Amino acid sequence: MKVARFHAPGDIRVEEAAEPIAGPGEVKIRVRNCSTCGTDVKILKHGHHHIRPPRVMGHEIAGEVVEAVDVDGWAPGDRVQVIAAIPCGKCAECLRGRMTVCPNQESMGYHYDGGFAEYMVVPAKVLAVDGLNRIPDGVGFAEASVAEPLACVLNGQELARVGEGDDVVIMGSGPIGCLHVRLARSRGAARVFLVDINAERLEMAAGLVRPDAAVHGEDVVEQILKLTEGRGADVVITAAASGAAQEQALRMAARQGRISFFGGLPKDNPIINCDSNLVHYRELTIVGANGSSPAHNAQALRLIADGAVPVSDLITHRIPLPEVLEGLDIVSRGEAIKVTVEP
Ligand SMILES: [Zn+2]
Ligand SMILES: [Zn+2]
Repeated sequence: MKVARFHAPGDIRVEEAAEPIAGPGEVKIRVRNCSTCGTDVKILKHGHHHIRPPRVMGHEIAGEVVEAVDVDGWAPGDRVQVIAAIPCGKCAECLRGRMTVCPNQESMGYHYDGGFAEYMVVPAKVLAVDGLNRIPDGVGFAEASVAEPLACVLNGQELARVGEGDDVVIMGSGPIGCLHVRLARSRGAARVFLVDINAERLEMAAGLVRPDAAVHGEDVVEQILKLTEGRGADVVITAAASGAAQEQALRMAARQGRISFFGGLPKDNPIINCDSNLVHYRELTIVGANGSSPAHNAQALRLIADGAVPVSDLITHRIPLPEVLEGLDIVSRGEAIKVTVEP
């Protein structure tokens, strides 16, 4: 079969590999869609300390069961979506229900071969935490593969308590920003504003997800204050690896506003300036977000299935596996919303 393997930073190869064999307690799937994101680009450029090469990449996975070895509940032909982040289910955090911050977390495409392949084995550890989800009728494989990033977005908005009547600002108009706009709407946000420094990408995204305003320029804080009658936004979510965006987010938040540092910063430059008195007097809440739990993935699939968060129009590029490097190039240039690989 064909796979796309990470060998070293800058060195991802599409090559032939033996079909993986499912052991006891594992499920083998025929991958139908594995979508790409900025994380894949980051791995391509810099590698990742959890990846020991060679490793099949790809973590936004949907496919069809071909074999289930000593596993109850799954049979050939079942359409499934696979979690990306695998919590241990046993540690102090997992036992408290905080699976997104499990310190023993492992990931598909990092510790285990991922979905840029014709076939993939779902590890027993995924099944142990209910990480294999049945794709609801009416949801295609490509849409189902987007359940993973949507699950992360859901975790972020739960932590930032996005709800009824909130004015919400999303900074960053990539695929994650688009999903944030749609999810905020489905959670009852009053107005949603989308911000990006890249005017072209913002225009493309805004055309799809229709924010109440698309904002860019040097003075985004002032623009948001103006759009919110001087109050600022109830929730500001930074879906961009930008310290400057995080600092702006703090300044455009309303009193008792919540700021989600959804996107992480580059490892070599993670320090920002924060006016602590803004946080103090305005009673701001700053929250992080780290991936998603198995339950978030299941809920994301339901949101897609019942139409609360449509995703099919966000999939702008469908490419065969041999073109995965071109696909990642499109992602890194910000020319696509979602690129999905069909192995
Ligand atoms: Zn991803
Ligand atoms: Zn754990």
